[in-house]
Formats: sequence, C-alpha cells, structure tokens
Amino acid sequence: MSRYWSPIVSRLRPYVAGEQPRIPGLVKLNTNENPYGPSPKALGAIRKVADDRLRLYPDPAATQLREAIAARFGLTAEEVFVGNGSDEVLAHAFQALLNHDLPLLYPDVSYSFYPTYSLLYGIGAIEIPVDDKFRIRLSDYDRPCGAIIIPNPNAPTGIGLPLAGIEALLAAHPDAVVVIDEAYVDFGGESAVPLISRYPNLLVIQTLSKSRSFAGLRVGFALGHRDLIEALVRVKDSFNSYPLDRLAQVAATAAIKDEAWLETSRRKIIASRESLVRELESLDFEVLPSQANFVFARHESRSGASLQLALRERRVLVRHFAKPRISEFLRISIGTDEECALLVSTIREIL
Ligand code: PMP
Repeated sequence: MSRYWSPIVSRLRPYVAGEQPRIPGLVKLNTNENPYGPSPKALGAIRKVADDRLRLYPDPAATQLREAIAARFGLTAEEVFVGNGSDEVLAHAFQALLNHDLPLLYPDVSYSFYPTYSLLYGIGAIEIPVDDKFRIRLSDYDRPCGAIIIPNPNAPTGIGLPLAGIEALLAAHPDAVVVIDEAYVDFGGESAVPLISRYPNLLVIQTLSKSRSFAGLRVGFALGHRDLIEALVRVKDSFNSYPLDRLAQVAATAAIKDEAWLETSRRKIIASRESLVRELESLDFEVLPSQANFVFARHESRSGASLQLALRERRVLVRHFAKPRISEFLRISIGTDEECALLVSTIREIL
C-alpha cells in the first residue's frame, strides 16, 4: 500500500484466479477448462491470419464475429457485443448499466468477480444468501433494486435455474437491468436468449472459454436489446477501441460456426460429469446437482481444505474456496474420462 493509492484501490480485494502451474503430468481440474480443445476450424483460421494479416489493425467493431454470433442466436448484430472474455464484458456491463442509485443484487454464493467489480466501479451491492441447499431463491430478489446479476447455472455450485423463474424476475423488475451470466449454460442449463425479444431489460452474457474450449483466447459476448448493447459499446470505445485482436476475431467466428464440434464436446462432458457424480457419491461425497462443466462436492468426514492439499501433493489440481459456507466443498472441473478416473483413484488412496 502507498500514499499515492486511491481510496478504492486501497480497499480492493481483487479476484484471485485458479492457479495455472507449468508442472508436467498434472491432472488439472481447477479452472473449468474444457479438455477437448477448440474447433480445428478455428485453429486453421488462426494459422491463416497469423501468416500475413497481423500487420493490420483488427476491425474495431468485430463485425464478422458479431454477425456470426447473431446468426447463431437468431438476433441482429446490433444486439451483440463482444469483448476479451466474459470478465471484460461483465466489467463493461457494470460500468455502463449498473451505476444506479438503487443497489445491485446478486447471490451469495456466486462468482467472486461481482463483489470486486462492485467495489471497483463504486456500485452499492446487496448479496442475497442462497438457501440451505445452496439454491438461488428468486423470491428473495423481490425488493427495490437498480440491477440484478445472476449466473445460470450458478458458480461454483453448478445449480441451474428454470427459464420460467428468470422470466418472472424480468417481468417483476421492468426498471432494473437483469444480467444473466451464462458462462456454463451449454452443459445442460436453460438459456434466457429467447426472452431477449420481449424484455429490453435483459442482458445475457456468454463465453467461448468453456463449452468452446477457448479459455486461452479470451472471447466473451453479451446479447440483449440494442440500447443495452449501445451502452456497452460506448464504454468500450471510451476504453479500448480495439478490444479483440485479429486472431481472436477470426478464431471465434469459426468456433461459433462449428456447431458440430460444440455438440460433441458438450455431450462428452455431460456424460463424464454424470459418471463422476456417481463415483463421488459412492465415496461418501455429497454432490450438488450440476448443470455445468464442474461439480461442487463435500465429503462426509474429510475437510475440503485437507482434500485439496492431499490431491495437490498427488498432482491433481482441484479448486477450494475458503469462504465460510462453502469451505467444506471442492469444485472439480470435468476432465476427460481418464482424468476423472485418475481423480477418483487418487481420492480412494487419500481416504
Ligand atoms: N462468469 C462466470 C460465472 C465464470 O465462472 C467465469 C469463469 N471464471 C466467467 C464469467 C469468465 O469467463 P471468461 O472471462 O473466461 O469468459
């Protein structure tokens, strides 16, 4: 800390990402990456651009990519915003839409970037506790607010909300922006995208990091009424007019168009998740019902912290959060069947 720091920076508690160590032979199930890699068509597109086009600035509006995303979701390009990962899109949304006199509501537990952004952008937030089964209870959001942000499925629990509940929330809060963070929606969740045409207060945010296996590329996007999207564009243009580089734009465009690749990888992950849940339950874990590419599980008698440490010593990385209500849990990303089997046999050794 220094006397030159602003009061906000002094109070910031930055989000701490899961570790990315470079240890060979590690089973890495700690940051919800997709083990199957991105579409080969997207990799081909990167190679082509890398050969001769990096000399040129990218399209500042990422038009082709936005058109591809729009076509995929049955929207127009004016209803699509793109950024460097959904973290950046969320940051722009916090700045552009959530700066009301009324509070922002989001669940506790949820994605830990929300409190960080609230503090960074000076937004008053109220955290609404999840219930005793770690479910988001939408009736608790029935109070005056300027905005609501809900991840669906939630992270790190993996629990999804039905679309009817989200629609009721939108209808009950016509004056608030409702942001649905769908980072994990492709693994079995119900997307709110079909509601966009009827609710001008809905912003849906998705990412290429998970189901499309492009975490290293950093591409996320927001979908919503063109007025909401225009607000995000204003923030972007006041911050960095070239948010997505050429490689990201061409690769993401190809990835969005490769529906078959998406389908295969998400099917494999859902099938592996279901068998991992059965294995963990047979080892006396309680596993929350997950619609994501991870599971959130606690053991009957071993603490989350001790299990995480013991697994790490045996070269298996999983995530543990020290936060009070969830500190008994481990968040385990779904890897290949071989990785999941290794995790299970390592847990057997430890118990
Ligand atoms: N939202 C949620 C709920 C997440 O878990 C994550 C991944 N950490 C993100 C958004 C951000 O993902 P990315 O920036 O890679 O698009």
